[in-house]
Amino acid sequence: MNFVDEAKIEVIAGNGGNGCCAFRREKYNPKGGPSGGDGGKGGDIIIQATERASTLLDFRYKKHYKAKSGTHGQGNDRYGAGGDDLILKVPVGTTVIDDDTEEILGDLIKDGENLIVAQGGTGGWGNIHYVSSSNQAPRKCTAGEKGEAKNLRLELKLLAQAGLLGLPNAGKSTLLSSVSAAKPKIANYPFTTLIPNLGVVQIDGERNFVMADIPGLVEGAHQGKGLGHRFLKHLERTKVLVHLIEYPLDPEFGDPGEDFITLSRELEKYDPNLAKLPRIVVLSKIDLCSKPARIEELRKQFEDYEFYPISAVTQKGIKPLMEAVWRKITR
Ligand code: GDP
Ligand code: MG
Repeated sequence: MNFVDEAKIEVIAGNGGNGCCAFRREKYNPKGGPSGGDGGKGGDIIIQATERASTLLDFRYKKHYKAKSGTHGQGNDRYGAGGDDLILKVPVGTTVIDDDTEEILGDLIKDGENLIVAQGGTGGWGNIHYVSSSNQAPRKCTAGEKGEAKNLRLELKLLAQAGLLGLPNAGKSTLLSSVSAAKPKIANYPFTTLIPNLGVVQIDGERNFVMADIPGLVEGAHQGKGLGHRFLKHLERTKVLVHLIEYPLDPEFGDPGEDFITLSRELEKYDPNLAKLPRIVVLSKIDLCSKPARIEELRKQFEDYEFYPISAVTQKGIKPLMEAVWRKITR
């Protein structure tokens, strides 16, 4: 099980500015020496890892990146200005590969880590550099170099920041599919449709996160039953657990409080670190509820937690829940 997010982009660093060929022509110095300055260096393309991003989604929409060129040198010994570097931010954990040669250019594993993937061209030399004892008035200057261009492939093992917890039938898959596939903008994002237990949730244009079902977490999961253990590595960066409890149709038969404790014990055995994470309690399927007072009773029962009644079917309460999850992730 290896969920990889992938994007292909083209990067072009800035060209160097041309060197300039010029001579001083001041009133008091009519036959001045050479004064053409160098061109500025072109901007580099830098890939920077950040903990604030979690997917490569942005790179699926915009695929071409070009850094600014350096400006040309000018007379009066003026050097061209360097072009600004272009910094592309990718999630921590991204591997950068040259898509033409398959060479791995780098693995960005620390927040803030930089990788120069395309060097800006150096600026050309102005004629002030070519003065020699035999040539006091050189007419020579050189053009700036071209910036490097590369086709890159970015790869990221998707790591979930929010984990979904709940007994079978609590409504986890339904919730995940309703929040990660409903937005048309990400409808063709492969992971929202292909992989049922991992989804990219897009709150708005700038905010998205990965939410994962924690599969096989039923009695005995910690003993290696089910898919649980192989999946754990996708939960390394999980910041919050969303614990679903089902609206009990018949109070005689379902006690959400007891279910909650059972599953919590199971989680503790499965992975104590996960069990320590902050938890949001979600009462699912409230469209089935005919007595709102029952919801309030349950809210009291879980007063130690943030509590969100929702219905994945009617979408009631979903938006506030996703905002609450986001707050916990970015806290
Ligand atoms: P999971 O085992 O936790 O992944 O649960 P599922 O998402 O597969 O849901 C179990 C059953 O509950 C399915 O038959 C769903 O259609 C149903 N279900 C899930 N969410 C809702 C809801 O909000 N309202 C209603 N009425 N049924 C739901
Ligand atoms: Mg399911």
